[in-house]
Amino acid sequence: MIVCRSISEIRSSIAASKKPTDTIGLVPTMGFLHNGHMALVEQAKAKASCVIATIYVNPSQFGEATDLDAYPRNESRDLVMLEAAGVDTVLIPDTGDIYPEGDETIVETTRLANTLHGKVRPGHFRGVTTVVARLFNIVQPDFAFFGEKDFQQLQVIKRMVRDLHFPIQIIGVPTVREADGLAMSSRNVRLPEADRAAAVVLSQALTQAAHLARQETTISAIDDLIRGMINSESRADLSAVDIVWSDTLEPAQGPLTKPIAIMLSAQFGDVLLIDQREIAP
Ligand code: AMP
Repeated sequence: MIVCRSISEIRSSIAASKKPTDTIGLVPTMGFLHNGHMALVEQAKAKASCVIATIYVNPSQFGEATDLDAYPRNESRDLVMLEAAGVDTVLIPDTGDIYPEGDETIVETTRLANTLHGKVRPGHFRGVTTVVARLFNIVQPDFAFFGEKDFQQLQVIKRMVRDLHFPIQIIGVPTVREADGLAMSSRNVRLPEADRAAAVVLSQALTQAAHLARQETTISAIDDLIRGMINSESRADLSAVDIVWSDTLEPAQGPLTKPIAIMLSAQFGDVLLIDQREIAP
């Protein structure tokens, strides 16, 4: 596995090794890898002849510096996992390289970035699209892989790729969960034991919502069920419940007549967790 620490290094490495028939699959991550990330790598291996992963904790998508500083890191363990999974190349860039001095260019999906979870984290999706567009230009992949756990992020990136005509196919990968249902996340290690136990309420609420959806029901009944369950967990501080029609991402209301996506975010102490599920009637 080749490890590149600068843009010029990865560009020369790709130029030297890429055959005309090769396809590149990109897996962008912020490191501190777990089985959710590895599911993305596995899909990339299945789809592309060359897999490139990136490890970069992108400052521009964090609101508070404390959240950025607290983000867990373990580069040596990440490299062992990526190598074992058969990744060809890893890019671990510096911030000075990604955001050159005097940098003033941003990429933003102006509507989508500022609705739903974007209201809980102002500027977050602008940071994501800005860095992902740069990674796309650096690596020039054929495919890029993103988790469905970050449902809105996946939609934002698909919209950016469509609008800016990136010749890249975006592939969403289903959420990988712990045995009790908690969505795997690098942030989970920051949860003290009691919060870790309480955090299961997010996936439980989504499971109960899916049960309810099997009967004739309404969006507001689903919303009430979810809020009731999460609010009854004293360690959870609910930030948002967003229920949207899967096809338009517009807020859903009235009877449940077609597939919806439910997006949850809640604070457990100072850790913000998110989860999502798509549900068909
Ligand atoms: P992150 O390192 O948290 O920025 O995540 C990098 C990529 O892995 C993103 O596309 C995430 O959506 C995806 N990802 C994170 N957690 C999971 C999970 N539990 N299951 C599937 N994909 C995930």
